[in-house]
Amino acid sequence: MRRLIALAALTTAALGLVVPAATAAPAPPRTGFEQTNGASWTGLDEEQAFLAAVDKASRHTAVSRIGESVQGRPINLVRVGPAHAISTVLFICSQHGDEPSGREGCLSKLRDLAFQRPDPKVRYLFVPTANPDGRAADTRTNAKGVDINRDHLLLVSPEAKALAKVIKDYRPEVIHDLHEYGATPKVYDKDVLYLWSRNLNVDGHLHDESVALSKDYAKPHVERAGQSTGEYGIWTDPVTGKPIRQVAGDGQERILRNTAGLKHAVGMLLETKVDAKDPAEAADPALNQRRRVQGQLAAVAGTLKLVADRWVSIQLAVAKSRLAAVLGQGPVYFGGADNEPAKPEDVDKNPACGYRLTAEQFAAHREVLGLHGIFSVSAPGGRIVPRHQEAGKLVPLLLDPRADFGLVKTAPAPHCV
Ligand SMILES: [Zn+2]
Repeated sequence: MRRLIALAALTTAALGLVVPAATAAPAPPRTGFEQTNGASWTGLDEEQAFLAAVDKASRHTAVSRIGESVQGRPINLVRVGPAHAISTVLFICSQHGDEPSGREGCLSKLRDLAFQRPDPKVRYLFVPTANPDGRAADTRTNAKGVDINRDHLLLVSPEAKALAKVIKDYRPEVIHDLHEYGATPKVYDKDVLYLWSRNLNVDGHLHDESVALSKDYAKPHVERAGQSTGEYGIWTDPVTGKPIRQVAGDGQERILRNTAGLKHAVGMLLETKVDAKDPAEAADPALNQRRRVQGQLAAVAGTLKLVADRWVSIQLAVAKSRLAAVLGQGPVYFGGADNEPAKPEDVDKNPACGYRLTAEQFAAHREVLGLHGIFSVSAPGGRIVPRHQEAGKLVPLLLDPRADFGLVKTAPAPHCV
């Protein structure tokens, strides 16, 4: 072999050929945030150029436009990994436009994944800017004042519609939702807060995976990165660490971490603290902003580890949840949460097989039902929406008169077949 190589070298030399040095791979593109070392957030135009550069340089990435904001700005979806995979993990970044660190974490992470060898069984989806108008104006809501993270049932906003369509089309097993929080009192003062699906209609095993994602993955990953953690929505005594009072974080089905569970995904809400944690951060906004993005990145790493470690048990939990929906298993809960028992009147132990819509009701709401993946069958005078279907956990929460955040109040159907 050595002689052969020597011969080849000799021949090359004799022929006077110049062997070019291997061309260096192009450097991965950097976000506006990275280029300024955290001094400024990546601009919306910079995002378009960055995503185009990632898409061009990586063979297993696809960038698409899944919708437009109220003011016509693009909402992008980035897929990293195979087009068809057994598992799908979805990151929804900065639904609230004035909470930018999640978006930066997503942009950096999708680029890093795009330049790694892909895992053949998992595709990662990122919506880097779920609320572009809110980002442009630095507001929580969209341009019409809609809080997108309270719009995952009614789908009033084009932004929530676009996200619902992604969930319907890709059926992710994990949904990680990235946020920030501010104005922290001493009783609520952690670098990172996490929370799972609390809604009582979420299937038990899926709920357990959701708790594990928060407590066994996000929490230790963030703490290993040197940041403190806590449970979102609960004030704790700064001395004893004991819970004092719940101020947020309930079981509302219209909030993404809960809607995710009802759509058979392991859901997590993750929040980083906006306020400066010490005088050094107060004096240097870039330091503060880098800490927030590092907190988001540590939690994202936790989600990737969960998928690697618990892949089989997540698949089983998701399959069981889908089956329970198709079988129409009850009871149905119209209130309560996993930390607050439902009142007896909010529990339906014998739920109807479905709901009857008049032709007018169906015409008014068919788009939203369709975006949730809910099917209906024709019946005299209108349609029947059976509860026994994959998207069935949402059916009573959208159509029953007892639902707090329903789409329309309809009558239960006596028969569904
Ligand atoms: Zn938020």
